[in-house]
Amino acid sequence: MRQVVIVGAGPAGLAAARAARGAGADVVLLDSSDALGGQFWRHLPESRPSQHEKRLHHGWDRFRELRDSLEADPRVRIVRGGQVWAIETFAGVAVHVVVGESDGALRDREVFAPDALVLATGAHDRTLPFPGWDLPGVFTGGAAQALAKGERIAVGQRVIVAGAGPFLLPVAQSLASTGSTVLAVLEANSAGSIIRGWSRRPWELIPASGKGMELVGYAAGQLRHRIPYRTGRAVVAAHGTDRVESVTVAALNADWSPIPGSEQRVEVDAVCVSHGFTPRLELAVAAGCDLSGEGFVVVDDDQLTSTPGVYAAGEITGIGGVDLAIAEGEIAGRHAGGALGGAASARRRRRVFTGFAKRIEAAHGIKPGWTGWLTEPTIVCRCEEVTCGAIRQAARTTRSESLRSLKLTTRAGLGICQGRMCGRTVEDLLGAASTEGSLQDDASPHRRPIAFPLRLGELADPTRQLEHETSKGTQ
Ligand SMILES: Cc1cc2nc3c(=O)[nH]c(=O)nc-3n(C[C@H](O)[C@H](O)[C@H](O)COP(=O)(O)OP(=O)(O)OC[C@H]3O[C@@H](n4cnc5c(N)ncnc54)[C@H](O)[C@@H]3O)c2cc1C
Repeated sequence: MRQVVIVGAGPAGLAAARAARGAGADVVLLDSSDALGGQFWRHLPESRPSQHEKRLHHGWDRFRELRDSLEADPRVRIVRGGQVWAIETFAGVAVHVVVGESDGALRDREVFAPDALVLATGAHDRTLPFPGWDLPGVFTGGAAQALAKGERIAVGQRVIVAGAGPFLLPVAQSLASTGSTVLAVLEANSAGSIIRGWSRRPWELIPASGKGMELVGYAAGQLRHRIPYRTGRAVVAAHGTDRVESVTVAALNADWSPIPGSEQRVEVDAVCVSHGFTPRLELAVAAGCDLSGEGFVVVDDDQLTSTPGVYAAGEITGIGGVDLAIAEGEIAGRHAGGALGGAASARRRRRVFTGFAKRIEAAHGIKPGWTGWLTEPTIVCRCEEVTCGAIRQAARTTRSESLRSLKLTTRAGLGICQGRMCGRTVEDLLGAASTEGSLQDDASPHRRPIAFPLRLGELADPTRQLEHETSKGTQ
């Protein structure tokens, strides 16, 4: 029987699992988290469920139906707490997994050699640095959202949400629903740029009218909680001794450079910042998949990557939201499962929501002037405590145009998070500081042969490697 392994049980992975089963394949669905649903359907643990979960999630019924049908299917093996730490493609595809609590001792190891692999590993949220962003009380929008949705914890009482993109709205909504007072949502792009980005060929938005209704829901929430939405503004510094006590908010030019004299100090006890998303590419890079110039996995019409037998779906192929992730997952799962053609409805939805993703980028994309709010002592790489000044100085002194050598010189991006937080920022700063204005090598910040930290004991102990066949069954 054909076996499909799917990495990631977010919207894309769940849809892929259902479609692969529909095509007749056996499915192994792996996720490092102990709950299914990914970022979009993150929820309270099943041991302490909420009566009100449905109110906090769009498409909650759809998620439950997907999850329940997969859990009830004896030919779907769901591995929760299964962290894929390496992928090899020497002779077919080998997927290396450790299973168990991420901070537990000696997790079990398994290796899968599927007929087809679907990568649906999603994205991290991206946060641009600013002076004081390393103070306690400064959260990424995604972290604040995860705490609100997954634990019902409010990050603070007086909170500002800042950055760029529609994701700021659900973050503000979740904060308000956990009892925070959200003082404002600050979008860095100007109202004009947002309107231009969204209003090109408006008739093409009609098939995505469900998204419009979602937006109306968020707008109504903003009004109900009296949260102002202000454009062309950013948090450009955070201040405090032991934790954040206030922030500086500045008006921005169209390129996001701060307008001198526009700064205002606002007292807060937390700030949530998000500037879009960065795809989680380490497994795709390990599998040898080609990336586009914009840094996403390149796929063909069937979601097949450049590596035979490896498909990709969801945020790793482009940032487009939950509906695009589901449509891509359906197509990838169906073809990975061995079906030929078909999936007409998913292909139509993919076309509609790919257009939607382009609008998000046009309306809310990052502009280069943000480096204007950095000072020389601003920490850029938090793990290795490398400052903006140190990065610029290394680029000037060594005159190197190689990302790899500049990273080795400064250690930026080489700490425990392996550049997941700062990688793109370091790349941008080094690129801007290099003599040519861009980097000359193809070193990828996503190339990590061991994708996640692994204990030497786990790697060395052959008894930890489970016999694939003896460990079947839902965990
Ligand atoms: C922090 C965060 C919060 C978000 N919250 C919202 C929101 O509230 N509303 C909204 O509209 N959009 C939200 N988004 C955007 C949202 O992620 C997408 O629209 C949608 O969830 C994408 O689906 P996906 O399946 O591609 O990825 P995800 O939903 O991100 O799913 C990817 C899954 O892959 C798993 N994974 C990754 N790497 C590995 C590995 N090596 N081994 C095993 N498992 C792995 C992850 O644990 C995760 O469960 C959020 C994004 C982020 C990053």
